[in-house]
Amino acid sequence: MERSTIVRVHEGLHARPATRFVRLAKSFESEIELVRGDKSASAKSSVKLMLLGVKENQEVTVRAQGADAIEALDALVGYLENPLSGLDSDDAAPTGTSAATTAGEPVTAPAPNPLEGGLRGVAASEGVYLGPVFAHFPPDIQPVERALSPSEIDTDLATLSKAVATVQARMDKALADKTLADGDRGIVAALRDIAADESLIGDAQATIREGVDAVSAVIAAASKLAAEFGNVDDPYLNARADDVQAVGRQICLALLGQDDVSLEQIPQGAILVADDIGAWDLARAPLKRIGGIVCGHGGATSHVAIIARSHGIPAVLGLGERIVELRDAKIAAVDGNSGIVVAEPDATIRQSFEARIESAAKEREALSVFKDTVPTLRNGTIIEVAANIGSLEEIEAALEAGAMGVGLFRTELLFMRHMHLPSEDLQTETYSAAVRAFAPHPVIIRTLDIGGDKPIAGIDFPEEENPFLGWRGIRMCLDRPDIFKQQLRALLRAAVHGGLKVMLPMVSTVGEVLATRRLIDECAAELEAEGKPFARFDLGVMIETPAAVLIAPLLAKEVAFFSIGTNDLTQYVMAADRLNPTVAALNDVTNPAVMMAIEMTAKAGAEAGIMVGMCGEAAGRADLIPAFLKMGLTELSMSPASIPRAKKAIADLAATGAD
Ligand code: PEP
Ligand code: MG
Repeated sequence: MERSTIVRVHEGLHARPATRFVRLAKSFESEIELVRGDKSASAKSSVKLMLLGVKENQEVTVRAQGADAIEALDALVGYLENPLSGLDSDDAAPTGTSAATTAGEPVTAPAPNPLEGGLRGVAASEGVYLGPVFAHFPPDIQPVERALSPSEIDTDLATLSKAVATVQARMDKALADKTLADGDRGIVAALRDIAADESLIGDAQATIREGVDAVSAVIAAASKLAAEFGNVDDPYLNARADDVQAVGRQICLALLGQDDVSLEQIPQGAILVADDIGAWDLARAPLKRIGGIVCGHGGATSHVAIIARSHGIPAVLGLGERIVELRDAKIAAVDGNSGIVVAEPDATIRQSFEARIESAAKEREALSVFKDTVPTLRNGTIIEVAANIGSLEEIEAALEAGAMGVGLFRTELLFMRHMHLPSEDLQTETYSAAVRAFAPHPVIIRTLDIGGDKPIAGIDFPEEENPFLGWRGIRMCLDRPDIFKQQLRALLRAAVHGGLKVMLPMVSTVGEVLATRRLIDECAAELEAEGKPFARFDLGVMIETPAAVLIAPLLAKEVAFFSIGTNDLTQYVMAADRLNPTVAALNDVTNPAVMMAIEMTAKAGAEAGIMVGMCGEAAGRADLIPAFLKMGLTELSMSPASIPRAKKAIADLAATGAD
């Protein structure tokens, strides 16, 4: 029995809707299959369904066989045609991800190599470090393939069930740990889902029944499933291949009664050297003991990079195959500013690193007195020195550095870390937690700024010739009010804690602000009708396109503040891709064209009497701060590590009367 229909689920049968569809399918006894084109998948496996890659507006056929086939078809076709909302918040437990890419700091062009013979990678987290190497290259599990006798088949099936239960229990324990950060909880929950899915375990069981031993069967099943994830034309699903392999590995180790090579053994002050650090390992690593991180994989916006930055650990990533050159090294020198690592550094390099580390420590010590400084110009103007953050985990470091609030909360990470769009409730909790942590200082939350170059579960991005000029930031949000309104509702709800402001990325027309305001009004009316508490917030825009600079006087009439995003503004004013090292020289914020754009923005803001701040990387440059203050900027938001230096620069200016 079968029925065809057109899928009306916005996100397609991606992570979360797939889970809901499976839950529904499992409530029937019939065998159920979903067919798209010439491919089909069991409707009772969310992993298989995701791999089927069903998108909105595609035709699919639901096939059911069994006593309750008619009811099953009614319910499942009904869901596909009218999912109500694939984005509702009924399923609060996040099923997260080891996001391969995340939003974060811009990739800076590599600096000239001062360390001949060093290995060059991506400068992912600033700082220098010299210390012993802790090589983390967990051995591949080598199965001894064994043909099973009929009686052994039952034993291996039973052992597999036990091993799966052990792994699930371990993951449940990690999930129950209250100290586990939200993002990490999402990662572990995603791995647990995979461990429970019939496509991995069912496949391994079938292979055991053919007479293959359990370890070999699990390795084969995990590799097959990982390859399927790797072959789909969807970067987000491609990144799940690593999660599948990680789960397979955990099950094999449980089968063999072995413990994994654990990062828990890393000695105090060691440099963690690895080809890649899986999300599962990273979630449990003792980060306080790690002096530096060097990886073969990863880039400046990878999960590892963000975690390293938020914990102030110098990191160089993306060394590729040359990572093996560090594997047997005893000592390494890591320069997270230029992206260079030297294995077994000679005496000269060691001395230079020791000197740099010592001077950095002295500078940190000297700057610590500025932690509680409230930088004030002689005319009484207070300059807010705030932090750029992307997750709640970064709050501690920001407060520790003396942040006077948050000038840019990049919300992309929250969206990238989960296998589904974060629910309104989860967003409300996250934004509220940030606001509470920084009270009484303001927290400026930027609405979702995502482009075609980064995968997000649940949003189908088109292939674009020029993703930086394409469907990103406010453009995407206004085209997807289902997603945008959820974020706006969460922001309105979080605003009851006070201090919350909201800003829009990539604005290039006044119409975008007006359309957003209409949506905010709609959301407020809905919340009112639902009796949910909310409060209005100040709305601002980021100035990061030349169009926004040119119409700044018009924008200023509509918003409460400007925040200049120099990372994008520089690339658009100079027409020089911020990710392309070959045009790095042009991508220079000090170019007069960019400085004039900043000045025009500041002037338009001052004339309209609204606050003008800056949250691009340039805001943290002590050498440029005097010029920005002269232009009239009153808020500067930067990576927490730059805050003390910026506060000192402002205090020095006021003290010397140069402000
Ligand atoms: C910017 O463009 O300057 C900015 C702060 O935003 P992002 O780096 O997240 O694009
Ligand atoms: Mg930007």
